[in-house]
Amino acid sequence: MARRMDTYLASLVGEDRYSFYEVACDFAKTEIAPKLLSWEREHIHVPDDAIAAMAELGLFGLTVEEGYGGQGGGLTELVLMGLALGYHSQSVAITPGAASSLGTKPLQLFGNEAQKKAHLPALAAGERMFVFGLSEPGRGSDAANPEVTAIPIQDGGWILKGEKCWSTNAKWASHVVVHALTEPDGRPGHRSTCFIVPMDAKGVHYQEMAGKEVWLQSSTGSIAFDGVRIKDDAILGERNEGFKVMVTTLNGGRLFIAALSLASLGFALDKCRQYAQERIQFENQPIGRFQRVQDVLLDMDIALHQNLTWLFRTLEDYETGRMARETAAKVKIECSRRASDLMTMAMEICGGVACFDEFELIRHFRDLFVCRVGEGSNFALKTMCTRSLMPDIGKILQ
Ligand SMILES: Cc1cc2nc3c(=O)[nH]c(=O)nc-3n(C[C@H](O)[C@H](O)[C@H](O)COP(=O)(O)OP(=O)(O)OC[C@H]3O[C@@H](n4cnc5c(N)ncnc54)[C@H](O)[C@@H]3O)c2cc1C
Repeated sequence: MARRMDTYLASLVGEDRYSFYEVACDFAKTEIAPKLLSWEREHIHVPDDAIAAMAELGLFGLTVEEGYGGQGGGLTELVLMGLALGYHSQSVAITPGAASSLGTKPLQLFGNEAQKKAHLPALAAGERMFVFGLSEPGRGSDAANPEVTAIPIQDGGWILKGEKCWSTNAKWASHVVVHALTEPDGRPGHRSTCFIVPMDAKGVHYQEMAGKEVWLQSSTGSIAFDGVRIKDDAILGERNEGFKVMVTTLNGGRLFIAALSLASLGFALDKCRQYAQERIQFENQPIGRFQRVQDVLLDMDIALHQNLTWLFRTLEDYETGRMARETAAKVKIECSRRASDLMTMAMEICGGVACFDEFELIRHFRDLFVCRVGEGSNFALKTMCTRSLMPDIGKILQ
C-alpha cells in the first residue's frame, strides 16, 4: 500500500525535491526504522554511527549555502527530510532538524562573515553542532527577559552566568547560542544579546535532563554558565538585539515542528488503514466496515492533505521572505493540535495493540505532545496571534 503522504507530496513539490524526499525515505526505512525499537527499549539516543550516516548523506548541511560546503537547499528541503525521517521517529528527525533550524540558522541569519567562515563548513559537514539556548528553568514562554546574564568587563568581553535548559542536541553540541540579559533597563525586546559560546569553554557545564518520556532518541540538556568569560567577537547579531535573533530563527523552526506533526499523522493514517482492513471482528468483518472507523480514517486523511497543502504554501512564502511571523505560529498550532487530537482516535480504533511499542503508534502519540509545547507552546502562540485580531487591546495581551 503506497504511503498516503507520498501521494499528496508528489503533487505539492517538484521532481527534484521529490527525488530528494525519496532518498531520505529510503535512508529512514533501511537505516533508522529497523533499529528504533531496540534503541527505545535500551534507552539510547541516536547512536554516533547513525549521526555519521546522516552527515554522510548531507542532512546537516541541507540549508547551508554551497559556498560554505552545504547542499544549498532551503527550509523546504529540511521539511522534506523531517517528513521522511519523522514518519518513523520524530526524535531522530529532530536531531539534524534542530541542528539546522535552531542551531545553524541564527548564524546564517545574523552572523558576520568571519563567524560564518569559522563555523558553517563544519556545521554543514556535521562535524560541529550549535544548540539554541533560549529557554531557562524560570523563562519558557516569557523568553524576552532572560535570567541568564552577560555582564560587560572592563578590559573588554563579558562574564556569563545562569542556566539554559531543554536544549535539543546538547549532548552533541560544539557550541551553544546563548540568549542573555545585557541591558536590564532597555525597552522590552531590546534587553538581551546572543553569544556563540563553545561548550568546552571554562565554566560551561552540560547535563542531560533525566526522566524525559518524549522524543526518546533526542538529547535534551541543561547547560549552566558559571562565570564564563567570553569575548566581544562572540556576539551574534547586534548588541541588545538578541531577542530578534531568537524569534526570527523560530519562524522556520515552527514550520519544521509542523512537519514533524504531519509526519506522525501520515504514519498513523497508514498504520490504521492497514489495520482496519486486516483486523476481523463480528463474523468475518474487517473493522474498516464500521462507519466510526471510517470516520476517523477520513478525518485523518483530510487533515493530512489540508495541512500539508497549507505547510507547503507557507514554505513558498518563507523562502521568498513574504511569510508573516503569525503564519508560522498558526501552521504549527494547527498541525500539532490536529495531529495529536487525531492520534488519540487513531489509537482507539486500533484497540489494545496500540498500547504496545511494537505497534509504534504510542511513539508518535508521546512525541506529538512536544509539538504542542515546543518552539512556543500553542497556548502562548495563540495569545501572540490574537493581537492582530483585536488591535485595540492587542498591546496588553502578553
Ligand atoms: C523536548 C523539548 C525540547 C526543547 N528544545 C528546546 C531547545 O532546543 N531550545 C530552547 O531554548 N528550548 C527548548 N525547549 C523548550 C520549549 O520551547 C518550552 O518548553 C516552551 O517554550 C514552553 O515553555 P515552558 O515549558 O516553560 O512553559 P511555560 O512558559 O511555563 O508555560 C506553561 C503553559 O502556560 C500557558 N501559557 C504560558 N504563557 C502563555 C501566554 N502568553 N498565553 C497563554 N498561555 C500561556 C500555556 O498553556 C503553556 O503551555 C524544548 C522543550 C522540550 C519539551
